[in-house]
Amino acid sequence: MRIEEHVALAPYTTFKIGGSADYFCNVRTKRDLEDALAFCRKKSIPFSIVGGGSNLLISDSGFRGLVIKIELRGRLSRDIDTNFVEVSVAAGENWDTFVEEAVLRGVYGIENLSGIPGSVGGTPIQNVGAYGAEVADVIVSVTACNAETGTWHRFTADECKFDYRTSYFKTLVGRKYIISEVTFRLQKQGRLNTSYKDLTNYFIEHKELPTLLSVRRAVLEIRSRKFPDLQTYGTAGSFFKNPIVSASVAARVCKLFPNIPLFSVSKNKTKIPAAWLIEHVGGFKGSTSRNVGSFQNQALVVVNYGDAKADDVMEFGNNIINDIYAKTGIQLEREVQLVGVFDVQ
Ligand SMILES: Cc1cc2nc3c(=O)[nH]c(=O)nc-3n(C[C@H](O)[C@H](O)[C@H](O)COP(=O)(O)OP(=O)(O)OC[C@H]3O[C@@H](n4cnc5c(N)ncnc54)[C@H](O)[C@@H]3O)c2cc1C
Repeated sequence: MRIEEHVALAPYTTFKIGGSADYFCNVRTKRDLEDALAFCRKKSIPFSIVGGGSNLLISDSGFRGLVIKIELRGRLSRDIDTNFVEVSVAAGENWDTFVEEAVLRGVYGIENLSGIPGSVGGTPIQNVGAYGAEVADVIVSVTACNAETGTWHRFTADECKFDYRTSYFKTLVGRKYIISEVTFRLQKQGRLNTSYKDLTNYFIEHKELPTLLSVRRAVLEIRSRKFPDLQTYGTAGSFFKNPIVSASVAARVCKLFPNIPLFSVSKNKTKIPAAWLIEHVGGFKGSTSRNVGSFQNQALVVVNYGDAKADDVMEFGNNIINDIYAKTGIQLEREVQLVGVFDVQ
């Protein structure tokens, strides 16, 4: 494995933003990963992991340490019984290629997660979710290397502590684990979930009965309207998480904005769509500032319209955070992961 110096990081991200890494390597085997981590321990430098780079904002000054790009490949499928199949997939595999293969094989469980960019190893980190599904529903285990000791551990789904757009791997202690493989349990005879509003409407409008293939097609079509084409513009998708607030906060905000859509998560927890707040409370939908903007079709998506700097993106995001807080008392949280040094608010 070759460790390069002074490598520009922007091309490794879908935002197409960011400075250089002092050191950079592609990891293709578990041994490569162990060697890369040993290099960091020996030099006493930090590391940062990049999968598909689709949920990252890298600072303009780059990263003073080793950036490890996960390129582990391979998958192994096992029939469990008449209904279940387990597939262990290496972290560097492309997520959507795996989803497409599952759909073409006729196995259920991840079709609603079609079209999400990035690697398989990136999916447990924030428990990716879309259209009423999340990877936590189908993950059996996650294999990861402890960067401090170089030892390997297999986490059960419970140990991964999945929650809305988060997991154990995002915690201070969990961040030392680098994922090499994820095992999914998929169903041979599953049930399709088209209860999410956009999907329900799609099948009503198209007068079509949902099948595995048509659900994937529907999700891809809906997504193509909500997100900019990554070949044309840089973005990391949703820039903010949907805030989850207590019943009393939800009631207070509802008094201020009676049309606000609220989704009950549990007895005392309510999810508020951040996109609604950004569009209707902040009025930011479609607005731009210095080549950074909120996408005209989906306010939650922050776009690099050309040569934007990470600082410009942060400033744009901070303006939204401050405005929504001033008007509602709700603090939006960034979903995008920051790499390098930022003047974080
Ligand atoms: C257009 C667009 C649409 C999107 N839509 C959705 C969506 O619908 N739902 C959703 O949940 N997300 C969505 N995302 C966000 C993103 O695609 C997902 O979070 C994806 O799973 C990130 O994977 P990645 O490999 O690109 O991770 P990266 O962006 O490379 O990394 C993200 C984080 O995970 C860590 N990481 C990555 N791989 C590993 C590993 N092997 N071991 C340890 N840590 C690792 C990184 O260090 C970083 O902290 C979207 C992004 C874009 C650009």
